Amino acid sequence: MRPAILNPLFADITALAGVGPKLATLITRAGGPRVVDLTLTAPISVIDRSFQPLVADAPAGKILTLKIVVDRHDAPPKGKRLPYKVICSDDSGFITLVFFRARADYLQKILPEGSTRLISGKIEDYNGARQMAHPDYMIDPDAPDAFPLFEPVYPLTAGLTANVMRKAVTEALKRAPVLSEWQDAGYLKQQAWAGWNDALQALHSPATIDDISLKAPARQRLAYDELLANQLALILIRRARVKSRGRAIKGDGAKRAAVAKALPFAMTDGQRHALAEILDDMASDERMVRLLQGDVGSGKTIVAFFAALAAVEAGAQAAIMAPTEILARQHLESLAPYLDVANIKMDILTGRDKGAARQAKLDAIAAGDVDILVGTHAVFQEDVAFRDLALVVIDEQHRFGVHQRIALTQKGPRPDLLVMTATPIPRTLALTAYGDMDVSQITEKPPGRRPIDTRAAPLARLDDVIAAVKRAADKGDQAYWVCPLVEESELLDLTAAEDRFESLKAVFGDKVGLVHGRMTASDKDRVMERFHRGEIAVLIATTVIEVGVNAPNATIMIVEHAERFGLAQLHQLRGRVGRGEKPSSCILLYKAPLGETAEARIKILRETEDGFLIAEEDLRLRGAGDVLGAAQSGFPRFRLADVVAHGELLAAARDDAKMIVEKDPELKTPRGEALRTLLYLFSRDDAVKLLSAG
Ligand code: ADP
Ligand code: MG
Repeated sequence: MRPAILNPLFADITALAGVGPKLATLITRAGGPRVVDLTLTAPISVIDRSFQPLVADAPAGKILTLKIVVDRHDAPPKGKRLPYKVICSDDSGFITLVFFRARADYLQKILPEGSTRLISGKIEDYNGARQMAHPDYMIDPDAPDAFPLFEPVYPLTAGLTANVMRKAVTEALKRAPVLSEWQDAGYLKQQAWAGWNDALQALHSPATIDDISLKAPARQRLAYDELLANQLALILIRRARVKSRGRAIKGDGAKRAAVAKALPFAMTDGQRHALAEILDDMASDERMVRLLQGDVGSGKTIVAFFAALAAVEAGAQAAIMAPTEILARQHLESLAPYLDVANIKMDILTGRDKGAARQAKLDAIAAGDVDILVGTHAVFQEDVAFRDLALVVIDEQHRFGVHQRIALTQKGPRPDLLVMTATPIPRTLALTAYGDMDVSQITEKPPGRRPIDTRAAPLARLDDVIAAVKRAADKGDQAYWVCPLVEESELLDLTAAEDRFESLKAVFGDKVGLVHGRMTASDKDRVMERFHRGEIAVLIATTVIEVGVNAPNATIMIVEHAERFGLAQLHQLRGRVGRGEKPSSCILLYKAPLGETAEARIKILRETEDGFLIAEEDLRLRGAGDVLGAAQSGFPRFRLADVVAHGELLAAARDDAKMIVEKDPELKTPRGEALRTLLYLFSRDDAVKLLSAG
């Protein structure tokens, strides 16, 4: 249970004064749905109103504050669409305040003639006269709550004004409870950091641009809190797993040797090394939780297969999970040639298995007649039971949630877990996303791959590109055509993809297909299968293209509005082609003119196909928050921490978290109690649940 002291923070933002349901929708878009989200939304800029020159010295275009006397009102004649003017002055000169569509009675009330007023806004020179249109503030200098000389500016969304957002955040801050310190006193002192409450206040009261920098002390303190919560949660989850002892799986190597002999290729050094790490883990009686990272086409499947063979050699079973039916079938097909030499039985279980046939499979699995089971989500179903499941391999892990990972590992007596991903993740990010796993990497590709000819072309050349694809299709080549990511709206994505589908149909007839995120899994699989069989020449897709699908005949990748995709995403998309004998190409269609970042991205893609290099560059270009793309879940998105700028803090948080768990594994000391609150504050309830009640 979340500590009651945090309740005010976890209330819905509609609990805040002045925030109704309509505003709540907008504020949720900008900050988040709960009060705590607003407190953790950092200002992105600051308005400095502290500059107070005389009217004569006031420069145009800069925000400033003037102390003036209201001389007279100059209302436009009735019915004329002229602005309302108020003439003011100080000892140095005159300034005219200008209001369009103003209400005279309101202006007369707040700017009575003869009164002194503080006004703030931007001055402009208009035909030689000084004027200020719609000042941001006009107040009595003796009024008790004068306007702030420094104003934080928050991220906004269409329809939400800076003032409304600022007020909501201010209200949210009022609800921040006083919490006991969870950070180590010595470390706080060494860093000269304030306590949580003070740091939070400081974050939201910037006075200079330096105060909103990622390096500002308050921001660093709060980022450290977030990173510590992340690292602590990961270590707790990992410890809970390791604590549940695994078993030592050691095969005699006979089946592996037989398959190795039958393979048409030799494993690369990277594959060999990763496999050795995996086999070591399996042989130890600690439970394996390992991530195998390797770029698309680096040959992860065969590594997983060898690990599965080791389990079978030891008399146990293995399961290999794929995110889609078609991928599961592909695994089965690619491994089928080796079943006889290894003398093993392999089967597949997917959502398509029904009734008696399914029951027969389940019986075989439970009896141990199936050595290696390849499957989809269907394997998670409760009635699927193994005789002795020793190894679970999850391919393309970001399609599966943590909960599914856990559900599957409950199907055996604490099976070893191998997770495989083709998303190369920079070291720094790997620590935050996968801190609960050991990591093996395959950094090279099998020899002999042809480079992919990558080009960029403006959208204006769309017709040329279509003609080129048509020529290739007439020769039997296949193409992927990825449609733009429009904002974050799936609906708009879809419209764009459907429009392209219609326009390409005119050229390609029924040899064009469409897959998108709103289709059911089996509809998607059907289209993908038709593509796989070569019945479709051009496959139009939103970004849902099945990760890992192998269509060796597909040699062309077109990405429309490539400037809207992240670097890593483009690399992933490009990795769909270049898998067969024929030369492949990737055409990045962009909307001119290209921004600097988009241009840099395209340049990097043209220069390299090394996924790790690309991932590092992506991180550098985009900042950590964006690297993995909004579409990919399962990775933490930090509110305040930035793994690039706060890299050192991340390393420190990692060490700190390790030490905490060594000394106080159940978080029972006073600091431990405070740390539980920290975990809840950053919504790591999953980690707290692994602790015994405090
Ligand atoms: P991924 O890592 O993307 O899952 P796969 O395991 O699907 O890659 O391998 C891609 C292709 O490379 C497959 O056709 C596979 O047979 C082949 N392959 C794997 N390892 C090697 C190797 N060492 N030498 C040559 N080809 C290999
Ligand atoms: Mg794969």
